[in-house]
Amino acid sequence: MKTPVPDYLAHVLDQCHANTEGALADYIPELAAANPNRIALALSTIDGTIYSSGDDEVEFTIQSMSKPFAYALAIQEHGLAQVLEKVGVEPSGEAFNQISLEKERSIPKNPMINSGAITTHSLLPHKKTVSRAEHLRRFLSELCGRKLTFDEQVYQSELKAAFRNLSIGYMLRTVGVLEEDPEHIVHGYIQQCAIKVTVKDLARMGSVLANGGKDPVTGKCILDRQVCRQVLSVMMTCGMYDAAGDWLTTVGIPAKSGVAGGIIGVLPGQVGIAVFSPKLDSHGNSVRGVEIFERLSSDMGLHLMEGTPSAQTIIQSRREYDDGMVVYELRGVLQFTETEMFLRELQNEPVGKNKVVLDLTHLTLIHDVGARMLFEGVKRLQDDGHRVVVLDAESLLSEQQSKGHKRVIVQQHLHDYLK
Ligand code: GLN
Repeated sequence: MKTPVPDYLAHVLDQCHANTEGALADYIPELAAANPNRIALALSTIDGTIYSSGDDEVEFTIQSMSKPFAYALAIQEHGLAQVLEKVGVEPSGEAFNQISLEKERSIPKNPMINSGAITTHSLLPHKKTVSRAEHLRRFLSELCGRKLTFDEQVYQSELKAAFRNLSIGYMLRTVGVLEEDPEHIVHGYIQQCAIKVTVKDLARMGSVLANGGKDPVTGKCILDRQVCRQVLSVMMTCGMYDAAGDWLTTVGIPAKSGVAGGIIGVLPGQVGIAVFSPKLDSHGNSVRGVEIFERLSSDMGLHLMEGTPSAQTIIQSRREYDDGMVVYELRGVLQFTETEMFLRELQNEPVGKNKVVLDLTHLTLIHDVGARMLFEGVKRLQDDGHRVVVLDAESLLSEQQSKGHKRVIVQQHLHDYLK
């Protein structure tokens, strides 16, 4: 059997290809020379499988889709509190290149519009020999598992016409948000926008964000879960500029667009999606890209607000043994809803002296709240007179969380334990 996913993606592209509305970005001369017929789509699951269709090998410049990743890197470098002192998180409802600041604090409203992105660029790590843009290029290369390069022509072309971004830079320097030569920072920001990617690269980068910062392929933790949450939140509220409300209600996927025609979308816990087609609408978002996302979201039920029902099957099995021992095998993800459901089941364990074994081996993730509630449940079972054993062979419970409960945790698989 062949999975139908690639056929479905090809079908969506076919349908959207007919739409020839929109115009190429022309304020960056090099982008006005792009082939307007290009169309591509890629989807990466959180276990690292990539499906793609159309011009999926064609490179184009990342442009504003670099902004969420630069924001992530800046937070990872300085901590959220320090970044929040320089850039807010309020949707501006304005165009991406608006020359504006938050009224009260005189800082950019959010990191997705240019004023916020230029400021965020200034917060990227850098050394004498390694520029901020180069740091970001390396970081993005790590995220997509491929060595990315700069598009020198697009970079030079935008530099020549960077009057608006330069004026934003000077404004930021005037109010003290930028502390260095604004020209240098703006040039670096423009270079950051000129990193070349394909839709497959973007989908893979998106899947790392969808996966809470963990690279689905290598298993390496590249970003903290909290950082991903912050980045996805501002993508949701500010990523599509003055079309953000429309996007949230129709598509409902945290996303970011770029003027070269790309859009990256991230559905937490599920997928990273990227599209590319160069013609833009009046907000600067790819016309076909928006249409593709609208279709995917409705066909595949990807709207965030649909709310996936939590796994009802958190208890894989409950087995009773002759000696009175009861073994619960759990499967899936332990968040509040699942843990509440599980503890409600445990309430049915009659008060007594039997042994209760909680086998966590097949859980994929335990959220903080899940761990805290689980330990509370363990304590209450013990108070009822039970002997409790937690099997945590995959070490899902962190050191911190399991502190003080060492005596109930056994790091082994159920079959070894039962021997
Ligand atoms: N480099 C572009 C700019 O700063 C990026 C804008 C965008 O993609 N929306 O104008």
